[in-house]
Amino acid sequence: MGDNVIVIALACSECKRRNYSTTKNKQVHREKIELKKYCKWCKRHNTHKETK
Ligand SMILES: [Zn+2]
Repeated sequence: MGDNVIVIALACSECKRRNYSTTKNKQVHREKIELKKYCKWCKRHNTHKETK
């Protein structure tokens, strides 16, 4: 674990709620990451985007 690993939150692109948090290596993932994850508020799988 070096200085390039940061904690990020993943927010649902539909309701904007931050449902997940994870870590990423910002040297490996230079772009904002997007993951398909289940949103319990929308009750379906939505794209979750990296947010601070
Ligand atoms: Zn949602």
